[in-house]
Amino acid sequence: SVPLAFFGGIGGASRAGILVKGGNFLEVLARTDTVVFDKTGTLTQGVFHVTAIHPDHISQAQLVELAALVECWSDHPISRSIREAYGKELDAARVSDVTELPGRGVQAKVDGTQIFVGNDTLMEDIGVKWHPCHRVGTTVHVAVEGEYAGHLVISDAVKPDAAQAIQALRAAGVTKTVMLTGDAQAVGQAVGRELGLDQVYAQLLPDDKVARVEDLLRQEPPGGALVFVGDGINDAPVLSRADVGIAMGAMGSDAAIEAADVVLMDDQPSKIAVAIAIARKTLSIVR
Ligand code: ADP
Ligand code: MG
Repeated sequence: SVPLAFFGGIGGASRAGILVKGGNFLEVLARTDTVVFDKTGTLTQGVFHVTAIHPDHISQAQLVELAALVECWSDHPISRSIREAYGKELDAARVSDVTELPGRGVQAKVDGTQIFVGNDTLMEDIGVKWHPCHRVGTTVHVAVEGEYAGHLVISDAVKPDAAQAIQALRAAGVTKTVMLTGDAQAVGQAVGRELGLDQVYAQLLPDDKVARVEDLLRQEPPGGALVFVGDGINDAPVLSRADVGIAMGAMGSDAAIEAADVVLMDDQPSKIAVAIAIARKTLSIVR
């Protein structure tokens, strides 16, 4: 039989905006030793804004329009920011053969012309040379028929409670805080420093994130547990691989909420330390 205290723990968590899908997850959460975060939408707001436009051979307006058309079907936060920068109604009938390239960007035809929109890795993959650019944010390159057409700079901000969330975990005895990101090294390192994370792994494709979490699971001390926290855009497989997968519920994807063991209704990373505290209190009553 399930001890009554587990129901109390799950109820207390839900009043704090933390949805726990079963008493067993409280038992594992209480043993948390490592917390691994996804960056975008988890530690950062995931609300991007285009902060610079650097066209090459075409006009600024054309660069933004082409990027927005290619991104017209994507729900990645980067894609939303590009459509916002365009600001006008998009004629989706001009767009065909759309393929999302997880962790890299999007490929599509606009008026029959082949266009790639995405990061350094994507440009390397298709053999297009990009011009050196300012690394104040995430760089999104545009290539038209194999020719470089310029880039957009897109910025995101860390969540207001993110630094405090990391401190609270350390105070709760969590020995390792890690961030995984598909974003560039410079962006990952800057966020890692700002938040005081122990480890940062950048430029990861979705499969690399799974491999990294498996690596960290092997490093777990006996009796310790690894928690992964993500918004589920490209990281549902990692959510299910961790000892406990925590998803952001408000901005997160349906796939994430499905794959997760715990859902944070208000997307606040500081709720992870709260969840651990509730789990430990519950366990102390059960025992
Ligand atoms: P994170 O690991 O930070 O959550 P993702 O794995 O979702 O980020 O994406 C990693 C990188 O891939 C982004 O920083 C961006 O460079 C590129 N990317 C992903 N999706 C898109 C898109 N729709 N448009 C442009 N670039 C994208
Ligand atoms: Mg992500």
